[in-house]
Amino acid sequence: MSIDILLETIDVTRRFGGLVANRDVSIRVHRGEILGLIGPNGAGKSTLFNLIAGAYLPTSGSIRFDGRDITELPATRRCALGIARTYQVPRSFDSMTVLENVMVGGFVRHASSKAARLAALQVLDFTGLSRTAGTLTGELTPPEKRRLEVARALATEPKLLLLDEVLTGLTPSEAQLGVELIRRVRDAGITVVMVEHVMQIVMPLVDRAIVLNLGTVLASGSPADVVRDPAVISAYLGT
Ligand code: ADP
Ligand code: MG
Repeated sequence: MSIDILLETIDVTRRFGGLVANRDVSIRVHRGEILGLIGPNGAGKSTLFNLIAGAYLPTSGSIRFDGRDITELPATRRCALGIARTYQVPRSFDSMTVLENVMVGGFVRHASSKAARLAALQVLDFTGLSRTAGTLTGELTPPEKRRLEVARALATEPKLLLLDEVLTGLTPSEAQLGVELIRRVRDAGITVVMVEHVMQIVMPLVDRAIVLNLGTVLASGSPADVVRDPAVISAYLGT
């Protein structure tokens, strides 16, 4: 049985002036999995998300998604093809209600307000935000804002969902709710790549893990293998 590859980066390098944020990064995301992308601060995790989602173009290398080369495509085209992402710093529109925010995502698939609204309401139900539909986003609690980021991304009806530190900073019980939501997303048939720098949160949840350090892939494999890898241990301990 061959593995179904949904996303592949091939020798992707991204420079910012003299700084190499990603160097020859080659990763594969299997359709249907939850993949953990971990690594210390500054490892290049968010940069890789930006390259996959199309916010930045790579300096060199290529990216394939769902059977096609997307290296040069603008972010809006990638979103239409089924790549959605959240931002490490939530980017909701504070003066809009939760429902209106999620409708912004819904308009990617639905031309009419009525259809976008209906789709957004379903996503609010799925993400447990229905009670906040009419709340101004600026009035949400921090964990609700994280959940809204996920909801807006889901409203674009993605094949691939990129989550950038959506569990970071949550209390253990809030993080547990987040973990349950991510599992339900995967069970709904959406492939998930999640960035976290705290290994304890991600490892029980992910099917596989890839560790980035100083812009390059340090290790990849099952969570159990990755946490035992001497190179990973020393990168985390800074030795
Ligand atoms: P991580 O998400 O793993 O913490 P980032 O991808 O945010 O890491 O950053 C990797 C490196 O690239 C860091 O040294 C960061 O300062 C640098 N970097 C990221 N984005 C930019 C940018 N737009 N301009 C300049 N440097 C950047
Ligand atoms: Mg980051």
